[in-house]
Amino acid sequence: MNNGVSILLFGPELHNAGELTTCVIEPDRIYLPTYKQNVNFSELEARVGSFDHNQLQLCWQNQGHTWMLIPANPDAQKTLIKLMPKNEVAGFAKWKRETLGQSLVWKSVAYSLCTLALAAILLVWQYDTAVSWVAGRVPLATEYKIGESVLGSLKTQTALVDKGISVDAVKKIGDRLTKDSPYKYQWHLSNDPAINAFALPGGIVIVNKGLLEKADSANEVAGVLAHEIQHVEQRHALKNMITSSGIAAAVLLVLGDANAVMMIMAHQVSAQYFSRQAEADADMKGLVLLNKNKIDPQGMVVFFKKMQEAYKGKANGPEWMSSHPDTANRIQAIENFIKEHPCTDCEKLKWDKKAILASLEKEKTKAK
Ligand SMILES: [Zn+2]
Repeated sequence: MNNGVSILLFGPELHNAGELTTCVIEPDRIYLPTYKQNVNFSELEARVGSFDHNQLQLCWQNQGHTWMLIPANPDAQKTLIKLMPKNEVAGFAKWKRETLGQSLVWKSVAYSLCTLALAAILLVWQYDTAVSWVAGRVPLATEYKIGESVLGSLKTQTALVDKGISVDAVKKIGDRLTKDSPYKYQWHLSNDPAINAFALPGGIVIVNKGLLEKADSANEVAGVLAHEIQHVEQRHALKNMITSSGIAAAVLLVLGDANAVMMIMAHQVSAQYFSRQAEADADMKGLVLLNKNKIDPQGMVVFFKKMQEAYKGKANGPEWMSSHPDTANRIQAIENFIKEHPCTDCEKLKWDKKAILASLEKEKTKAK
């Protein structure tokens, strides 16, 4: 028996920053007294929290909505881990592996002098502020190196297509959106059927076949690209990696020693989750980017609604939905922005879906 573990609860109609409440751990389930909700352990999925490398997030579905709880403090997390039946919660073994791996990484670099310097900064600053400060000082060349390294390991797992009509079509939209960027972007297509796109540090954007199949207009693709581009521009992935690699690794990065920490970081990017704040930031700044480049932003709404429908009832959405317990709120925010910032001379882009998919199929066969 326990009297309740202090948690932050995220769900439909709850506060965006989470509601502070308690949960009771019973032999086969978690009970949320305030919300009269019972969640069996078999319904839960464990994830690693994004802005705190060892934080436990537990997600589940209830009536078509994703709910999530995180322990309110380190003691609550310890209690939760102690009381939870480890084998019954999906992803828990992976969570333990990842957090353990990261703590080893942390130990291996923790004795460097750089850590002392950063510790001084941390005493004065909030952790997130320190991470942003560090991310802002990582040389562009280092960021490119990290991106290339991750791309290299990705290529060993998936065949990527980087030429042909399909790539050109994506590149055309991407180039228009990034013409004023300090980054030199690369556009790749993957034959993965999952409806997804993601960005690596340094401006490498990978779009899955599944996304091209699901999108019915170039403006929908542009909406997703604008969002991913902003993850690059705002250095979200880099910040994630810095947070989860430990601050000492970050200092080495600032000093330009990419090799020392690249291996640590490379394996983390494929499983990255952004914070709700980073996702909202990428949405809003993505909309600004679309408006600025005269691309009708309505495509973003259309596509997000399709995604909401496609991933209804599933905890494991693609990158841009993954950390959002409530996608509906996000769509609402996008619609509000469009209403408040009408773009009268924004245009609909041309898109020959059939030719694009046929070309991708052809290049894929060649790449094999
Ligand atoms: Zn995103």
